[in-house]
Amino acid sequence: MRKIPPKTVWIIVFILSVQGLLVCLVGAFKSTPRLIWAGAGVMILALVLEFAFYRCPYCGKWLGRMWMKRCPWCGKPLEEGLPEEDPDYRPIDAPAGKTPGEPDRAPEEDAAKGPDGE
Ligand SMILES: [Zn+2]
Repeated sequence: MRKIPPKTVWIIVFILSVQGLLVCLVGAFKSTPRLIWAGAGVMILALVLEFAFYRCPYCGKWLGRMWMKRCPWCGKPLEEGLPEEDPDYRPIDAPAGKTPGEPDRAPEEDAAKGPDGE
């Protein structure tokens, strides 16, 4: 079976999700349960497609919910035109403590969220 490029899968999943959401909203506005279920069905289909096909063509791992230029697991490029290796990019497996996809987030942000539980 020929592999679908991850970007194509991502776009199809994105369009399906948006359409499903719109159908759902229209169904909610018109109080039509059948439309709500149809929209939910399309969104579930999008999720299933994403789980099944939005995978790294190199290592086969699931790429998560967002579009990535590189596989977060093995660091291989998912878009044409990117160099095979990127010295600045650290895959999850690398011992770096940095998560690809959110590279510049300061760890203090989490800690500073709120001691107002007291
Ligand atoms: Zn990979």
